[in-house]
Amino acid sequence: TQAPVNVTVTGAAGQIGYALLFRIASGQLLGQNTPVKLRLLEIPQAVKAAEGTALELEDGAFPLLAGVDIFDDAKQAFEGVNVALLVGARPRTKGMERGDLLEANGGIFKPQGEAINAGAADDVKVLVVGNPANTNALIAQSHAPDVPAERFTAMTRLDHNRALAQLAKKLGVTVSDIKKMTIWGNHSATQYPDIFHAEAAGRNAAEAVNDQQWIENEFIPRVAKRGAEIIEARGASSAASAANAAIDHIYDWVNGTPEGDWVSMGVPSDGSYGVPEGLISSFPVTCKDGKYEIVQGLEIDEFSRGRIDASVRELSEERDAVKQLGLV
Ligand code: NDP
Repeated sequence: TQAPVNVTVTGAAGQIGYALLFRIASGQLLGQNTPVKLRLLEIPQAVKAAEGTALELEDGAFPLLAGVDIFDDAKQAFEGVNVALLVGARPRTKGMERGDLLEANGGIFKPQGEAINAGAADDVKVLVVGNPANTNALIAQSHAPDVPAERFTAMTRLDHNRALAQLAKKLGVTVSDIKKMTIWGNHSATQYPDIFHAEAAGRNAAEAVNDQQWIENEFIPRVAKRGAEIIEARGASSAASAANAAIDHIYDWVNGTPEGDWVSMGVPSDGSYGVPEGLISSFPVTCKDGKYEIVQGLEIDEFSRGRIDASVRELSEERDAVKQLGLV
């Protein structure tokens, strides 16, 4: 067997962390041949709760779990990290302005970027889950100049998975019948779930749906606002599905996407599809040999163009705001 892979999880004592850690320990993050060492980062007040979770991890007797260490210091937590899952973030509280939110998160993601820069392994891969995920990823990335920028990604896989499920339901097919779903832009209400390039059981999905009204007024808002629907029903935000999406994101990045399909990831733009270079925006990507590539050459019609531009505009505004705060 190979040497254990170091996986650092921040916000480990939170509800996503609780759903995530057991799946990592069971081998679902990297595959059934890869032992993992968990490095949990929490704020000092939550270290005790993380220790409790570590006791439960021990009780799982997971054959692939090579150890669990708990830290309240980013520098230590990211020492030697191969896979960094940045889940902990400052949630928006009542009356909080966007600027305050970005500033509070800057205080978290700047030092974490610096710690990754200082201590991460050469092959480090970073996934930001904590919101606002795209801009938090941008902050961390901009403080890690020695790490290739493309290693910093933001999660839009939950949106992608939600879109797969809604479309499959609409068409009466299974999720595995659907290929080439795309989420564009920001992980926010402006995100654009695009089915115009998707295939459903071999047919073009938009043609199979044949209902622009449904796409615009039901599908897109349902996917974009699914988080609120979950909170309304569950009385708490989505956690297990978010953890599941984080697992999918890293698993596919490491192990590759199937031939003839792609996934959605928030990645630094190389200017593709008119998205300003450097913005961390969601794109369709294929993965192979531990690397991803933005799918090129898709035709973007006027409707899609407008939706992508609106979400990218929001990302640009977030970047301007954190620039003004001196965070990037
Ligand atoms: P959760 O575990 O529920 O959520 C963590 C983050 O994930 C939030 O920013 C949340 O955003 C985000 N998120 C992204 N996608 C989703 C989704 N689909 N559904 C729900 N959330 C999503 O938060 P908890 O409050 O339970 O736990 C956070 C933990 O992080 C706490 O234990 C806290 O102590 C810790 N923390 C750790 C830090 C560190 O390690 N340095 C720094 C800050 C906090 P949203 O707010 O939009 O729901």
